[in-house]
Amino acid sequence: MNYYVLAYYHFVPINDPAIEVTAHHSFFEGRDLTCRIYISHEGINGQLSASIADAEAYMQWLKSDERFKDVEFKIHSYHENVFPKVCVKVREQLVAMDEPIDLSLTGDHLSPEQWEQMLEEKDEDTLLIDVRNDYEWKVGHFEGAELPTLEQFREFPKYARDLKDKKDPEKTKVMMYCTGGIRCELYSALLKKVGFKNVFQLEGGVIKYGLKEGSKHWKGKLFVFDDRMAVPLSDSAETISTCHQCPTLSDVYYNCANVDCNELFTCCPTCADKLQGCCSTACQHAPRRRPYEKTDRPKPFRKSHHYEYGEKR
Ligand SMILES: [Zn+2]
Ligand SMILES: [Zn+2]
Repeated sequence: MNYYVLAYYHFVPINDPAIEVTAHHSFFEGRDLTCRIYISHEGINGQLSASIADAEAYMQWLKSDERFKDVEFKIHSYHENVFPKVCVKVREQLVAMDEPIDLSLTGDHLSPEQWEQMLEEKDEDTLLIDVRNDYEWKVGHFEGAELPTLEQFREFPKYARDLKDKKDPEKTKVMMYCTGGIRCELYSALLKKVGFKNVFQLEGGVIKYGLKEGSKHWKGKLFVFDDRMAVPLSDSAETISTCHQCPTLSDVYYNCANVDCNELFTCCPTCADKLQGCCSTACQHAPRRRPYEKTDRPKPFRKSHHYEYGEKR
């Protein structure tokens, strides 16, 4: 375990995101490091893996900038880098949402301890929502959570408006969570915008919760957008998802080998072999396919040129 995997985000005005991208690239020169970092006028959203020394150096370097001194890094240990390469990009929005959101109107942030307590006191007026995509909650989620079938972040506004017709926005207590906390910053503000009065969000997301509370009230594993794909929150993490093709339990992800499909799905080794890494027999006969390699843990995001964080393709 000589590597750190960092997850972090921070909202702060950035005048010229392109300058920060260049600064990152020069800092990364010659280091044992991979990442996926987005910088916009509204802040930074990063995931990075590096040798412990280089990860420590990066955290220190970023925090030495006044604007980023309060960045909170969530740290996992791992045995290798987990991203395909160094990727630092300017983004228009940190979380793609097709409508303007007032980030000062977010829900109340709950620490992992407060979250756990509220979970235990949850009553019939409390609505626990997993605001991640369906392929994420499939491998793991909080017990008793609503699991909306969102395939893209962009579908959330519609979900929020529909929810208002089903649940009383005055008295419903909404508890929402996502992987690292950033999506909740926007989604909680959106729920408040449509009229929900009591909105709570898990600060630092499931990553931080797992680091503090382990797998209490959590079922399965945590989906992450890197080579690890599904990480356990504690030593006793179980597999709750099944193979896309058969009833065998599996949380091993594949990107469909048909590059024109590229669907992300869980698959057991037998079905993966049989379909040569494809999601269906139709895809198995498609003209543009990646060669199938038999591995215990494929690295789905490495092979796709089109699959970006949070986007289907
Ligand atoms: Zn199977
Ligand atoms: Zn397919």
